[in-house]
Order: sequence, then C-alpha cells, then structure tokens
Amino acid sequence: MRITVSAIKADIGGVGGHTCPSEKLLGTVRNFISRNAKGLLIDYYLGYTGDDIHIIMTHTRGVDDEKIHKLPWDAFTEGTKTAKDQGLYGAGQDLLKDSFSGNVKGMGPGVAEIEMEERPSEVFCIFAADKTEPGAFNFPLWRMFVDAGSNTGVLINEHLAEGVIFRIMDVMTGKVAELKMWQDKAELEAALMYPGRFVVHSVLSYDGSEHIVSASTDRLHNIAGTYVGKDDPIAIVRTQKNFPATEEAGSAFNEPHYVAGNTRGSHHMPLMPVKLNSAASLNYSIPIVSCLLFSMHSGKLTGPHDGFGTADWDLQRMRAAERAMIMRNQGFIHPATLVPDELEYNKGYEARMSKLQSKFRNLEDVMNGKTKTTTKSKAGSKR
Ligand SMILES: [Mg+2]
Repeated sequence: MRITVSAIKADIGGVGGHTCPSEKLLGTVRNFISRNAKGLLIDYYLGYTGDDIHIIMTHTRGVDDEKIHKLPWDAFTEGTKTAKDQGLYGAGQDLLKDSFSGNVKGMGPGVAEIEMEERPSEVFCIFAADKTEPGAFNFPLWRMFVDAGSNTGVLINEHLAEGVIFRIMDVMTGKVAELKMWQDKAELEAALMYPGRFVVHSVLSYDGSEHIVSASTDRLHNIAGTYVGKDDPIAIVRTQKNFPATEEAGSAFNEPHYVAGNTRGSHHMPLMPVKLNSAASLNYSIPIVSCLLFSMHSGKLTGPHDGFGTADWDLQRMRAAERAMIMRNQGFIHPATLVPDELEYNKGYEARMSKLQSKFRNLEDVMNGKTKTTTKSKAGSKR
C-alpha cells in the first residue's frame, strides 16, 4: 500500500517570547485539523518543539499535494487568530504570504514528505528542531549513513554498506546535486562542511528505489528577502531492516554539535536533544531537537514514543548545556557569533557596520591627526 507521510511545521506564536505555543493555540490548530481531516487524512499527530508546531499526517495523495498542504496552512492561519487574541509573541510569523497558492513550499512553513510502499512493520523517526537551521542535520545524517565510527550498520548491514544517494541542496540557488556513496564521498563531505550553504534535502537507497530521508530545506530569509528568523528544520528518517536501526538514527544526535541559530539567529550553540513537547530554553535559546518515533500500519500511526525521553539522554542534555556555556563565555566574538554573511539579514548589524565604515581613514591621516574626531580633543587634553 502506497502511503505518504507529510510533516509540516510552523512557528505562529510563543508565550512570553520565542518559547512554546500556548495550550489554546495548540487547541485551535488541533481542532481545525480534526474538523477537516475527514476524507483527506488517514491519521495525524500534532505536537511542538520550542515555538514550532508540527503536524504529522498520513494519506494516499502523494507528495506536494495541494489539499494536504492547504490543510495545515489553513490550520496555522486559524491558529494565528488565537495567537493574536492572546498577544503571543511573533503571532503568525512563519506565514509569509497572504494567501495559499498550491503548495506551502516557499510560503514559510517547513515541509518534509516521503511517499513509500509501506513495509509490514513500517517505522520512522521525525526529528524536529528549533532555534537552528536546516544544515543542523548535516552532521547527524553524515554520521548515520557515512560514518562507520558512529554507525557500525554502515559496515555490517549489506544495504547500508552498498552506500546511499544523498541529495544536497545549495540553499542560495535552490539547485540539488545527487551524490552517490561511495564514489562521491569527498564531494559530499566538502558540501556538508558548510551547513549554512549546503544542506541534505533527502537520502535514497543505493539504487534510488527507496526514499529513506526527507528534510525541510527552505531558508526563510531567501523567501522573505529580509531576516525573519532561522528556519527551524524537520526531517523524516525511515529506520530498521534495510535502513539504519532506530537507535543508529537516534544516536547520531548523541554528540551535541555546534549549529547556527539560537538567540536572534546570530550565534553558534550545541544542538541539545530534548523530550517531546519541550519549550525552548531561556539560556540564550540553546538549539533543540526532539525525536518522535512512530510505527505505522495501513497509514495508521502508533506513537509517538519519545526517542530522547529515556534517562541516558540527560547526559547529552548536560553536555549540551556545558558546551553552550563554553561558547557563551566568549560573548560576541566569532565563532560564538555567525560570520557576517549570515548576519547580514540582521538590520542592527548592518547599521553598526555602516557607521563603522564611515569612520575608516588612511592610517597616515589618522597618525597626523587629520581626523574629524581628534582635532578638538587634541587642543583640550593635556595630562
Ligand atoms: Mg522556532
């Protein structure tokens, strides 16, 4: 049976800042989906990671389906009214267009979708992140499918050992490169080096017949033309049998790596695995990721089981918090902050830079006191 899993997410308002949606906001979105799901969806689940609400839907209409995409768009639009009524922060912030036009791609919400021939025991994880960008998944996806040091399955599962196909998107041009393991490994790794530019769009089996991973890849600043916040990603990863074991997928997040995002989307901080429906941290908005595990049969969902909910993940949370403090201790000095190219969408930074540029002069002129600022003080200061 061919089933499509569609994961669509958006930030449409947070309580007291960019923290988490209110109960009433979640209720509005959930009620809208449940009222309108009939005849369209087989099943759905709704939850949140930080200030992003995700809606996981199963159906038989394939990817990029207009009716499927319109349902969460309309639910988020309805939810925005509640967010505005409650004065929530950033109400409707991810809905960048006034009206729906066929597909939510390029309109603000993030989308990950896989159409599949359902296996007898179909299992998949949803990784939903907040306070970061799509490239945050580069490192864990590399660990899952390329790095035998992280995942022995790459050696001892014959399908994974054959290699997979990575589709990498250049987020500045929207173009996609297909890289086959193992012959294109060096080019893949060269691309994954810069998660702000090249991100994993999807992963397919060696022969291209099975879609294993789908990740959201839109960068909000490319859509809106101005900085409107980081584009918190969501990804679907199918697991077990010919794919990574569920724990091979989950453990790829056990070494909280530094990613771009957090406060003002302008810093580097580690990606902390969190429990389902966790609010964003007030500790400078440490980037977070949650893991929803589902079993599926005939499109009916069982779960989610909380992938990062067991006691051992408290250690990773502690490590992430420690790494966050190490980076925060160097304040605004790069690499605690992002490179200028990434900051350029921040109007405040542009203003500082243009004022700074106006003060630059030839060194000789400065040494000879031929500057506007030193003439006055020279006469008046005598120590
Ligand atoms: Mg967010």
